[in-house]
Amino acid sequence: MSQSHVIIIGGGIVGCACAHRLAETGWRVTLIERDTLGSGATAAGMGQVVALDDSPAEFALTADSQRRWHALGQANPLVHEYTPCGTIWVASDDEELAMAAAKVPNYHAAGLQAELLDAAALYRHEPNLRPGLPGGLRIAGDAVVYPSRSAAWLWQQTGGTLIHAQVSTIQAGGVTLADGRHLHADAVVLATGSRARDLVPALPIRPKKGHLVITDRYPGFIHHQVAEMGYVKNAHLADVDSVAFNVQPRATGQILIGSCRQYDIHTPEVDPVMLGQMLQRCLEFMPALATLSSLRVWTGYRAATPDGQPLIGPHPHQPGLWLATGHEGLGITTSLGTADLLAALMNHTPPAIDPTPYLPSRFFAPTSSLL
Ligand SMILES: Cc1cc2nc3c(=O)[nH]c(=O)nc-3n(C[C@H](O)[C@H](O)[C@H](O)COP(=O)(O)OP(=O)(O)OC[C@H]3O[C@@H](n4cnc5c(N)ncnc54)[C@H](O)[C@@H]3O)c2cc1C
Repeated sequence: MSQSHVIIIGGGIVGCACAHRLAETGWRVTLIERDTLGSGATAAGMGQVVALDDSPAEFALTADSQRRWHALGQANPLVHEYTPCGTIWVASDDEELAMAAAKVPNYHAAGLQAELLDAAALYRHEPNLRPGLPGGLRIAGDAVVYPSRSAAWLWQQTGGTLIHAQVSTIQAGGVTLADGRHLHADAVVLATGSRARDLVPALPIRPKKGHLVITDRYPGFIHHQVAEMGYVKNAHLADVDSVAFNVQPRATGQILIGSCRQYDIHTPEVDPVMLGQMLQRCLEFMPALATLSSLRVWTGYRAATPDGQPLIGPHPHQPGLWLATGHEGLGITTSLGTADLLAALMNHTPPAIDPTPYLPSRFFAPTSSLL
């Protein structure tokens, strides 16, 4: 029996995860990447695998994905540099601590570990936090991975064909490359992250620029991903420029320091003002960061959608075109859940979670125009 053939455009973590899952479920896969695998937002990201409960849709996809990363990481910890360090969400006042307490039952109901920390427990875990904080929330199942290597590894398992080229157009039954070649397939998956509008201009995707700093090696300086409770409000959900305290221990002993978000900036240069504001915010929570030596700063782009959820599923008006983009600041985490959902939809098999909140059709009117 001949296999169905899918072309996946974009070899970031999302495209590679989709390739992996589709190959597992019987598709012949061709991946087209204009650069190297895992070099876009995937290389720029922090690599935190995080279950976030800020909306039911976000929680369903991140919790499902966190479990998938756990299985992948436990099976192959060296490849993925899978480090199950957990996250501590730091409350800056009693109101945020009450918010943290209210989240505990949500995580437990989803079968995930969550522990409310009082001040003493907080400082036992992370002594470098500034004095006077009331506590926090510890999500033990969160982890850190090395996204670019995971992307390449996921792709290597597929046995598919990798073409290094730029796709210039998508049409029914295939794509055209910038060098003029036409490639045919039964299905095309668009997984080009923040560049999705280059090929499908009507998609509601806006780039959100971020900066990250990496330090020299300081093993034991922090033990968890440590972020402020206000991170989601200040970062994920904000539609104006924002900064938030968010630091991560790498397997090398280095510390990744973030984060900030800027809308509609298309130049990759480091913005010293934004960088300064980001570092200032981090120093407010962890003054000892000022004693560390930083090695490098870089920027990258998240693909933001108006409702903060990714686009996973069929394009409602272009038969044969499937979308896997718009993952904003959670695409490393949600890549595995995305791939499973997309494959279930393409294979007409039951999905692990309800796909409705992520279907691209939510942004399209019943006719062909966008809402
Ligand atoms: C600063 C920062 C920190 C982040 N931290 C985290 C985190 O801790 N945890 C988390 O879960 N997420 C995080 N993210 C988000 C995460 O990095 C992204 O959501 C994820 O990498 C998106 O993956 P992707 O495969 O969709 O896109 P990308 O990685 O951008 O891949 C898209 C690929 O498509 C290719 N491409 C584009 N156009 C074409 C074309 N026309 N033809 C051929 N190829 C093309 C590009 O070269 C690229 O390789 C962070 C992002 C940033 C910027």
